[in-house]
Amino acid sequence: MNHDIIKQEVIDCTSCILHKHRTNVVMGCGNFDADLMFVGEAPGKEEDLSGIPFVGRAGKMLDSMIAAMGMNRADVFIANICKCRPPENRKPTPEEMKACLPFLKRQINMVKPRVIITLGATAMEGLLEIFGITNNRGKFYQYCDIPVMVTFHPSYCLRVPSVKMTVAEDLKKVVTFLKSLKL
Ligand code: SF4
Repeated sequence: MNHDIIKQEVIDCTSCILHKHRTNVVMGCGNFDADLMFVGEAPGKEEDLSGIPFVGRAGKMLDSMIAAMGMNRADVFIANICKCRPPENRKPTPEEMKACLPFLKRQINMVKPRVIITLGATAMEGLLEIFGITNNRGKFYQYCDIPVMVTFHPSYCLRVPSVKMTVAEDLKKVVTFLKSLKL
């Protein structure tokens, strides 16, 4: 499956109100053969302007999380539940996430990651339909038979620096899991 085909469909998409607010669609980026895929919530202002996911301060924090796992952006694939920016950076509604999820599902089918990490409560809710990130973080769930680790969003790490330790624990579990596949 060609990612450009999916991108064109996203550009043409008017399935939810968010298409009215976007400057660019933000498809995702990285390695199409990645073992690890990150899933965030939706583009913010800088992402909407650049068309690239996780730029700015949260992006730098995500980069440091990836580096702590012994990888870099070129090793992983990064995407969001919603491809268009919600106005005022509000949380996407459940309906908006449902409308956009088929695009992410096709990206997951294309990349075929061995493991996914959801970043923040909204990504967790959108992908896994579970609620309460404090109780669910650090655990593996399943999406289409792919293990999914739930952890906090990089923006939350910026707001509450003590959370970085908790996220590091979650990421370590994913590194251990990926290593176990290579034994
Ligand atoms: Fe379509 Fe997704 Fe954009 Fe909504 S957010 S208009 S479903 S591409």
